[in-house]
Amino acid sequence: MMGVIPNKENGNKLSVLFIGAHPDDADIQFGGTAIKYLQLGHTVNYLSMTNGDAGHQTQGGGALAQRRRGESQSVAEFLGINYFVLDNHDGELQPTVENRRKVIQIIREVKANLVITHRPNDYHADHRNTSLIVQDAAYLICVPNIVPFTPRLESNPVIVYHQDRFKKPYPFVPEVVVDITEVIDRKMQALAFHESQVFEWLPFIEGYLDEVPKQADERLAWLKAKWSNPVNMDEFLPELKPKFPLEVWNNIHYIEAFERCEYGGKLTHENVNTLFPFGTVNF
Ligand SMILES: [Zn+2]
Repeated sequence: MMGVIPNKENGNKLSVLFIGAHPDDADIQFGGTAIKYLQLGHTVNYLSMTNGDAGHQTQGGGALAQRRRGESQSVAEFLGINYFVLDNHDGELQPTVENRRKVIQIIREVKANLVITHRPNDYHADHRNTSLIVQDAAYLICVPNIVPFTPRLESNPVIVYHQDRFKKPYPFVPEVVVDITEVIDRKMQALAFHESQVFEWLPFIEGYLDEVPKQADERLAWLKAKWSNPVNMDEFLPELKPKFPLEVWNNIHYIEAFERCEYGGKLTHENVNTLFPFGTVNF
């Protein structure tokens, strides 16, 4: 069964669910688009498949998992969303039936119309396995005897992938582009709650820890300079420019982009404007 059924219990508003591997993935890859849904009164939920208990140079284990969960809850309060964090170890996520069942249950409980996740080709095994789990769950969301205590959805949510920079076996295709320029500062404010990631771990592992400012206000400006575009927009420019009026194009500085997944509900010309009311269609 395919197609989009607006969530009737939510005043015909959309229910949008980002499923990432780690507690910061949603904010990095989707934070701007999430804010645009929230501005229109739609519901946004984030799900992290792992608790983030590995990625840090001086901390780890349960204490780090608790810290990361606290950071996620700060984002949730700031944005007004739900942020689910599953208690799987960071760096060890497996595409097990158990994890698939958890994803099916959460997709059903939030009655998702749209699911966003990683592409299956990605540098991080947790990202790849998250993608696989979501793809494996797609068809089963409508099957009543799977996770039978949580009622099936009558239509498959549409699944899309967020942008990335990976080229093999094929590069990311920006099929829906969202201009997030007007919400970029709020996106960065949300991302800054992931202190242990964006000001500690990622600068350490990527070799620029000495660049991180100490003062909170300087940190935000630094974060914006470093992290405001999740992909190099220039790569997409030649292809996308004809899609926008020039005066609009000249004012776009930050984007997030999405590619269709072949499983689950299909993103089509009929439903794309409902599911991405602010997106520019490029397929
Ligand atoms: Zn991640």
